[in-house]
Order: sequence, then C-alpha cells, then structure tokens
Amino acid sequence: MDKARVADVLDEIGTLLDIQGENVFKCRAYHNAARIVTGLGGDLAALVSSGDIRNVKGIGEALAEKITELVTTGKLAYYDELKASFPPGVFEMMKIQGVGPKKVRLLMEKLSITTVAQLELACREDRLAAVEGFGKKTQENILAGIELLKKHSSQFLYSVAERAALTILGRIAALPGVIRAEIAGSLRRKKEVVGDIDILVAAKKTHAKKILSAFASHESVQRVLGEGETKASVVLDIGINCDLRVVDPSEFPFALNYFTGSKDHNVRIRSLARAADLSLNEYGFSPLGSGEKRGSSKRAVACASEEDIYAALGLSYVPPELREDAGEVDAALARTLPVLVEERDIRGTFHCHTTYSDGANTVTEMAEAARALGWEYLGLADHSKAAAYANGLDETRVRKQQKEIDSVNQKLAGFRILKGIEVDILANGDLDFSDATLATFDYVVASVHSGFKMSEADMTKRILKALRNKYVTMIGHLTGRLLLIREGYALRQHEIIDAAADSGKIIEINAHPQRLDLDWRLCRYAKEKGMKFAINPDAHVTDGLLDVRYGVGTARKGWLEKKDILNTSTLREVETYLSLT
Ligand SMILES: [Zn+2]
Ligand SMILES: [Zn+2]
Repeated sequence: MDKARVADVLDEIGTLLDIQGENVFKCRAYHNAARIVTGLGGDLAALVSSGDIRNVKGIGEALAEKITELVTTGKLAYYDELKASFPPGVFEMMKIQGVGPKKVRLLMEKLSITTVAQLELACREDRLAAVEGFGKKTQENILAGIELLKKHSSQFLYSVAERAALTILGRIAALPGVIRAEIAGSLRRKKEVVGDIDILVAAKKTHAKKILSAFASHESVQRVLGEGETKASVVLDIGINCDLRVVDPSEFPFALNYFTGSKDHNVRIRSLARAADLSLNEYGFSPLGSGEKRGSSKRAVACASEEDIYAALGLSYVPPELREDAGEVDAALARTLPVLVEERDIRGTFHCHTTYSDGANTVTEMAEAARALGWEYLGLADHSKAAAYANGLDETRVRKQQKEIDSVNQKLAGFRILKGIEVDILANGDLDFSDATLATFDYVVASVHSGFKMSEADMTKRILKALRNKYVTMIGHLTGRLLLIREGYALRQHEIIDAAADSGKIIEINAHPQRLDLDWRLCRYAKEKGMKFAINPDAHVTDGLLDVRYGVGTARKGWLEKKDILNTSTLREVETYLSLT
C-alpha cells in the first residue's frame, strides 16, 4: 500500500471516529498522522521494515502499528471493523457540501437518517429545521448540497479521469498489434470535469478482438456494458464509463479528430470541408458526389495525421484544448492561433504551503522538490492568522519563517525561495496583516477563505478593495469554487479582471485539480485586457507541485501563451518584476 492510500485510510478513520463522537484528540491524531504520512520523504515501506516509522514525530506506538499492518498486509482489521459498523449510506452523506461528521452523527441519532435519500426527504418534509443544531437555513443549504451532488454524480475531475485513463492506456499501448493508442474526447481537450473516457486504438482488424478483450478484462474494469467487433464499453471502478474503439491505422487521424470533438468544433470543420466539395467524417475525407456538386473532380484526401486534416482544409493545426468552437476555426484560417504555453515553460511558482501553516512538508523539502523539477524559484505563501483552521501565521511566526527562508536560500545556489504569504481577505475587504507586515514579503497572494455567502455586489467590492492594496501582487483562487463540490461565490469576475489589468496585478490560475480557478473561459478576456497570469499549484505537499500541469492545461484552454504567464520568466526577470534585489 502506498503513502497516499495509507494516508486516506488514516484520514477516514479520523472521520469515522469524529462521527462516533470520539475524543477530539484521538480523532485529530489520525487526521494529523494522515498529513504526516503524506509528507514523509522516502519510501514508506522502508521506514516500516526498519521500524523507523516509530521515531517519526507525531506517530505514536499505536499508529505505527496500524501503519505497519497497512503497509505489510494491505489491510487493517481495525479499519475494516470500524467501517463495517456504519450504515454504508453514511459515506455518501459526507459528500454533501456542509455536512460534516458532527451533523451526520446528529442525523443518525435524532432522526435515524443514514442515506442521502432519507436526508432529502426529511428536508423536504421540513423535519430538519426543528432539530437542534440545524434550523431552517441549514436545511435549505443541505437541500442545495444534495441537488449539487446529484447534478455532479456522473462527472469526474479531470485529474481523476486522466489517472484512470492513463493506467488503461499504458496497458493497451503495449499489446501486440497496437500501432497507436490515444485518449480522445473531453479529456484530450482538458476539460476541468469530464463525463466519460474515450480511448482510440489504431490496429489491423485481425488484432481487434484480442485488444478489446484485454481492455474489458483490465483490473480497473468493474462492469462490461458491451463488447463488439471494434468497440467495447465498460464502467471503471471509480464509476466512470470508458469506451475503447479499434480503428484501421488509415482511419486513425480522422477518428481521433472526430472523437476528440467538441461537437461544435466538428460541425465547423465539416462545413469547411463541404465548401471544398468534400465530406469529412470519422473514417476520412470523401468527395461530395451528389446534387449540384456532381461531377466534381475532387478525390478523397489521405491524411497521416490530424495536422494533415487541418492543412487539407486550409487551417493551421488546432490544438485539442482549443477545439471548443470559441473562434479557433476562424483564427486557424487567418493563421492567428496563439502559440500555447507548455509545461516545460514553467520555471517556478508562487503559491505553496509548508508545515508553517497547513502544508505537510517543510520549507527545505518544498524547495528541494521544486529544484528537482528544474525550477529556479519557489514562492511560499502560507496562510495568515485569520485562517486559524489552517494554522495561519501570526506576525511572530512570519518573521521566524522569513529567517528560515533566508538561511535555506544561503545553501541553494542558483535557486531562490521567495517569501510570500496567502493573506486572507477579510469580510470588509481589509487584509489580515498591516501594511507594515505585508511590506516584509517579496510578494502577496490575497484570497477569500470565509464569508462566502455575501451578495455579489458586496463580494465584488470586497475583492476590489483588497486588490487596491499596493502590496497585493495577485489574487488567489478567484471564485473559491471546488469543482463538483462547491460552486464559487457570487462575484462579478469581469470587474475584478478589469481592475487587475488596469493596475498591473495578477489573478492566479490555481492549478489544484479541484479548483482550476481562474476558469479557462475567462482567460482570453483577461489576456485581451492585458492582464498577467501566474499558474500556482497551491501545493500542500511536495507532490502537489506537479499539479502545475493541470494549470497549464487551463491556461492552454484559455488561449494563453508563455509571455502571458509570470512564472515562465527566469528568476532574474521575476526579481525585476517583484522589485527584489
Ligand atoms: Zn487559499
Ligand atoms: Zn493556498
């Protein structure tokens, strides 16, 4: 069992104990242990076999034993028993926004509610409002949360779907007879949430059956919905539908193009084909041979790649991320498509957390992980004091961290840790630190972490005020949305973008796969206003730095180029930008 899975189990135990109403310290010990395990350097199995796990700070004897059992046997009897003592519907209830362990306990005790359906009924019958600890407002919120849960039940985060798809793709690509295998669909277009997975394979027909049956018997397949001559459909263990199609190598570029979509993009390029007396579908180009076009001398066009297809239509190649019928076809005709930013353009980042607030790794660990990625700088932006839930820093601990950064920087040749802060934007738009404290940072990220329910006008005013503070460099996760869990707060985003552009400030693209906020649909508007961006992983653990790639996907979908993004700059350029010496 790997670190991430062990941490999940520990965290879940903590939550189950929370529901049981166990002693807070006992619950917290499990949640903390989950964080510690996530942040551990090196191999967990090695730590367990040497017994050194017992010496890790925060892991007591009892926890060490449980971790050892998990790592060595892949199971934990204590966890299995604890989990089995709960009605299964309880775990689904915890997915409702605003329903935590404490509420679940009350619902079970007072109303014997153990499923989402029972909870919904109770809300509709107005039975929750009377229960102590709930009330009318909470009842409304829970109902809204259930609606959201239902709406999103067949959707998956890009990162979750991608991981599942890549596991299968790796296996399929290695099968005999497979010439090419690619992910298509909205996943290839890097949509922030996707409904299913499409995989496309180029192979001769004689291999198709074996490829399809290998796919249908992959260990991540939970259920086979159908298996034909050239296509199989399955449901994966995470609940997502996955289709695999086998096509002849000569048809592959056309099929890849067709199944990548979007539908609207396909409609546009098909109409261009028609204007050239061609019909375009998932099998290829063919001459239009009917009606007034009869007698056309056009022949079918063979294409070895998608590039060839676009070229045959007089278009420059349209990267999959742009295929949303948002002007990309016209731009491809006019040869004015942007040269999109790439992962390798990133040279550092600005919004990461450490053990000073709610991160799992130390300043040094985070810096070394960033350096190992080939980056030149890492901006640390821990939480400020108002974020008490996240162990936010007060002025004294800010000074302590800044000193530590100075000393670590001494040892890191050619690399610089930048001293930032993720300062809370308070309800009235003030910041959580005085200007004097803010002046001690290299840069400031300002974010909203509380008071989500205010009116659109008030929230807009609140963030605009924060943006006006001269020490604020950028706004963090602009809307506060958590994809598939929580809608963003009401906000006039265009107004914030206009103000940021006018005052030379940045709105980050928060690259955490659950956020991807600023939304790609607004990036082009902001770019055209002249606003600069930063792609920030909001990493709370060293591996979180890798999330930058999801932010790059968002930036690409938003038509952004290297020059639009501050953290494609060299350290020198960033130092100049931030007026650092
Ligand atoms: Zn934040
Ligand atoms: Zn953060």
